[in-house]
Amino acid sequence: MSICITAWLLQAKQQLAAVTHEANVEAKYCCSFVLQQSNTYLYTHGDQQLTPEQLLQLQTIMQRRLTGEPLAYILRQWHFWDFELEVAPATLIPRADTEVLVEKALALVGPDPAHIVDLGTGTGAIALALAKERPDCQVTGLDRQMDAVDLAIRNAERLQLRNCRFLYSDWCTALVGSEQSVDLIVSNPPYIDVTDPHLACGDVRFEPASALVAANEGLADIQQIISQCTGYLRSGGWLVLEHGYQQAEQVASLLTQAGFAQVESEKDYGGQWRISFGRWH
Ligand code: GLN
Repeated sequence: MSICITAWLLQAKQQLAAVTHEANVEAKYCCSFVLQQSNTYLYTHGDQQLTPEQLLQLQTIMQRRLTGEPLAYILRQWHFWDFELEVAPATLIPRADTEVLVEKALALVGPDPAHIVDLGTGTGAIALALAKERPDCQVTGLDRQMDAVDLAIRNAERLQLRNCRFLYSDWCTALVGSEQSVDLIVSNPPYIDVTDPHLACGDVRFEPASALVAANEGLADIQQIISQCTGYLRSGGWLVLEHGYQQAEQVASLLTQAGFAQVESEKDYGGQWRISFGRWH
């Protein structure tokens, strides 16, 4: 059977609607991945016939995707900020919502070269975006999963970013020696409560619980991070945290109780409370 790009996209979109709200985006992502071409190419070459090899590869991807497996894990690649990252089932799939955390960190970091730390870096997404935007800054990404550290190192090599390093660390343990000297700490930690029904839906079912779920109504890791960070931030440094849309008040008050000043929360582009941040006195 022969089929052109436009016809394949249309058919894939209809099928993908059963498993994702992003059927259009995902259909194009699959096709551009297999053809190794941009979305613009798919649009301008819509009449091009797919080769039997391309079609077979696309069918294999679709079969797996239609069982619910996230496209990012099937392709072992996902988009974040303005680059593609290698991803693996051992790490969270980077989300566009997290870009608001990157933007806030960039806004807070100040004009001078700074030492930035990303706790629970996973694929390295946040750390790599910051390292890319601020080549004058030194970025350290930490993770307690060795697989994640190796993956983040590969991503940094692929993006040819040399102003970042990735280390094994149980939250802040690897920062010993950097007491009161870090300029900015960011983290997208696990923050979902184990009873949250969201965990039974869509892509999250395939993601590691260690990157998603935290005790104490989802706040346990955030509490630990806040209390550890106070030892490493310099006076005037910032802590920027991602959290659940119903946790802004609690996280802001945890920051205030720990002695942070100028504490604020902000929404993501979906209109959900997503980050809170504070300045170490
Ligand atoms: N925001 C993600 C979700 O709700 C979870 C990310 C996280 O736990 N850090 O699916």
